[in-house]
Amino acid sequence: MKYILTGAFFALNIFLTPIFGDVQLIKKENSDSNTTLLVIGGIHGDEPGGYFSASILATHYKINSKNLWIVPNLNQESIQKDARGINGDMNRKFSIIESKDKDKKIVEDIKEIITKENVSLVLNLHDGNGFYRKTDRGNIFNANAWGQTCVIDQCDLNQSQPFGNLNTIAIDVKERINKKLIEDHHTFDVKNTNTKFDDEAMKLSLTYFAVTNNKPAFAIESSKNLPSLSQKVFYHLLAIEEFMNIMDISFTREFELNEQNIDEILKNYGNLNINSNISINLTNIKKSLSFIPIKSESNVFKFSNPLGRVVREGGNFIVYIGNKKITTLGPQYFKQGESCTEKFEVIVDKNIVSLDAASDFFVNDDFNIVKKDGYRANIIGYKAIGRLDESGVNIKLQDFDKRFSIDVDDTVYRIELYKNNEFCSMFKVHFIQDNTK
Ligand SMILES: [Zn+2]
Repeated sequence: MKYILTGAFFALNIFLTPIFGDVQLIKKENSDSNTTLLVIGGIHGDEPGGYFSASILATHYKINSKNLWIVPNLNQESIQKDARGINGDMNRKFSIIESKDKDKKIVEDIKEIITKENVSLVLNLHDGNGFYRKTDRGNIFNANAWGQTCVIDQCDLNQSQPFGNLNTIAIDVKERINKKLIEDHHTFDVKNTNTKFDDEAMKLSLTYFAVTNNKPAFAIESSKNLPSLSQKVFYHLLAIEEFMNIMDISFTREFELNEQNIDEILKNYGNLNINSNISINLTNIKKSLSFIPIKSESNVFKFSNPLGRVVREGGNFIVYIGNKKITTLGPQYFKQGESCTEKFEVIVDKNIVSLDAASDFFVNDDFNIVKKDGYRANIIGYKAIGRLDESGVNIKLQDFDKRFSIDVDDTVYRIELYKNNEFCSMFKVHFIQDNTK
C-alpha cells in the first residue's frame, strides 16, 4: 500500500525558515506561560536519530500550552557530510572558543538562545555508542557506552530553580521510557558524568554551559547500535514527550508513536519551493532533474522539512534532507517573469480548471493547456515535435517520454509557462494510476 498524506498530518506545508543568527530556531508558543522547553538536535552531524527527531517535533507536533523551542540542525554542514564535526567537535567548544574557529558564530548564537530568560529546560539530542550498563557486559553493553541514557552533569541545581532536581527528573524519565521499550535490552538509564569534579572534557560541553548558567539541561542519547533510524527517533521522541509531560507542556500529535509510523514520516521529505514559481514534492523524486528554470544567483529555496538544504556544487544544485542526498537539480538559467498573470486555465478530463502559479493538477485521461496570448507552454517530455508552444493540444500519459518524469513512478510531469522568454511558473500534472485494473 502506498503512503498517502492526509489531513491527519498537519503543518507539513508550512515553510519553516525562522533564523536566529546562524541557527534555525523554531518556536511553538502559547501565551499562557513563559515555561519553555528548548530541544537541540544535530550538534554532532553523524547522529541522525537526534536531528530527525527534532525535525519531526517541529513538523508533526502541536503545542497546546506553554512553549517548545526547537533547534533541529545546530551543526548543519556536518549533518550534510554525515561527520561528527567538520570543524572539530562542536560539543567541546562551550567553555572557550578561539576567535578563528569556524563554529564560533553558531556556538555564540546557541549560547544566547540557551540563556534567554524564557528557557526553562534544555535537551541536547545525541546518538551514542553501545548500550550503557553500570557493570561491564562486553563490547556493546558496558559502563563506557553512552547509548540509551539520560545524561546529567550533576544531581541538582540551586534549590529554588524550577526543574533543578536533575537526577530525580532523569530517573523519572528513564522509568517512564522503560515501560515502552521495543526490545528488552533497549533499557534506558541515567548517566551522571559528575562533570564538575570528574570530567574535564564535559566541562566544555553544551549541557555543562547550560547548567553553569543555572539552566536545567540533559543530554538524551539513543544508541547508534539500534538497527534502524526509526528506532532511534522513537526513543528520542519518547524521551522528549516525557520531559514535556513533566513540564506540564500539553501537546498533540496526530499519529500513534510507533516504529512503523515514524518510518513512514521519515520517508516523506516534504516540499521544496523555489522562487515562489516552482514547487516540487521531494518524496519519490528522481535522483536528478535537468533544465530547471531558475536564476543564475539569488534563488530562494524554501523547504517544508526543517532539515532541507540546497548546496551548489559545480553547475548543479544538490538537495539534501539532513544527511540524505535527495536529488540533483541541473539548472537552465532564465530571467524570471515579473508581469505574469496569476491564473492559468487548463482543461482537465474535459473540465476547465483555473490554476494558481506553481500548482498541481490531477488527470485521469487527458489535459489541454488553454492557449493564452503572449504565453508559451513547454510540456517537458511531450513527444510531439515541431511546436514551440504546446498549449491547445490534448495530451495523455502515453504522449510523454518517461525519462522526463519528475517521480520514480513516471506519473508526474512538468509544464512550464513562459512570457517573452521569461519564466513564469511550473505546473505539475499527475496522472492518476488506476490500481484496480
Ligand atoms: Zn553526540
